[in-house]
Amino acid sequence: MSNITLGIIGGGQLGSMLAIAAKKLGIKIIIFCDDLEAPAQNFCDEFIGAKYDDKEKINEFVNKVDIVTYEFENIPYETLNDINKLKPVLPKPSVNRLIQHRLAEKDFVNKLNIRTTRYVSVENQSDIDVLEDFLPGIIKTTTLGYDGKGQHPVSTSEELKNLKLDLSRGYILEKLVKLKKEISIIITRFSNNKYEIYEPIENTHEDQILKHSKIPADINEKIFNQSKDWAILIAEELKYVGTLCVEFFIDRNDNLYVNEIAPRVHNSGHLTINAFNVSQFENHIRAVCELEQIPLKKLSNAKMINLLGDQISNYRNSPKLKDNEFFFDYLKKEIKDKRKMGHITILE
Ligand code: ADP
Ligand code: MG
Repeated sequence: MSNITLGIIGGGQLGSMLAIAAKKLGIKIIIFCDDLEAPAQNFCDEFIGAKYDDKEKINEFVNKVDIVTYEFENIPYETLNDINKLKPVLPKPSVNRLIQHRLAEKDFVNKLNIRTTRYVSVENQSDIDVLEDFLPGIIKTTTLGYDGKGQHPVSTSEELKNLKLDLSRGYILEKLVKLKKEISIIITRFSNNKYEIYEPIENTHEDQILKHSKIPADINEKIFNQSKDWAILIAEELKYVGTLCVEFFIDRNDNLYVNEIAPRVHNSGHLTINAFNVSQFENHIRAVCELEQIPLKKLSNAKMINLLGDQISNYRNSPKLKDNEFFFDYLKKEIKDKRKMGHITILE
């Protein structure tokens, strides 16, 4: 048992699962979140609800904790940087600043000689006429997107013009990859340069939102090894501490691309709670709190199904689960269409 108090910024389901893992390790958790209804308050030792630029509340939070981490990437860089002057923030704020901007993130990945989709920054209307090469594509806001929010598939420049986007917000246009499959790699890097890496996870999206994840991924050996090598290279280059996820595309010719990096625990890794001896959440806590590193062992193959919107209702009312099925309710009060409300993991 330790007497560390860990602060987590963000109080969604990822914060909840981090708090549950921390409790098991005897670590006290204080959550800071701008949503007063945040579900993670059900699982932490103390909850502070305030805006991310509320300096007084941030100070109160920082004074109470030994180390700070975060469960989502869209936290103002200034906030993380200010906190880091007083208490260590892990992963480093500079990592978060790089990855929260889609252009900076892709430039970084390409510099490592790792393939990404083809992309271009779209800054004004006159750019649109010369973008034929990147169509059909997906236009995305460069910052603040998640679960397909801020994204529009476009086939022609006419369509793109008709969207009448406020381009001053910053947009990136990505060429559409003809997808065969999507996979992700979850890796936890420790401050002594060692790491634990999970096997590739195969992911299915519907309307740009993750629906299913499973292990083992049905992929060839080359992609199995390349995806792991690239995730290790990215974690090493960032000198990352904590759990990180790399999302990949595989096209119809079996080319591998990095789609994006999440500097945090990830939805596709929920199955690690039941399928491995140490989950992505526990590994994150172990890495940022400098606890012992435990070699990963797979206990079972598994499939995870996200419960979106009112798909949660049946399970909430009468969860008839078999011995190999595990239901997680994120305890979000309001059911909204396509909102991630919970998940089921099935060990197989
Ligand atoms: P988010 O930050 O919302 O997760 P992503 O860039 O990962 O955004 O996009 C969400 C999903 O949309 C991807 O997992 C994929 O299914 C689809 N998608 C996004 N960009 C492309 C692309 N360039 N080609 C093909 N599919 C894409
Ligand atoms: Mg994504």
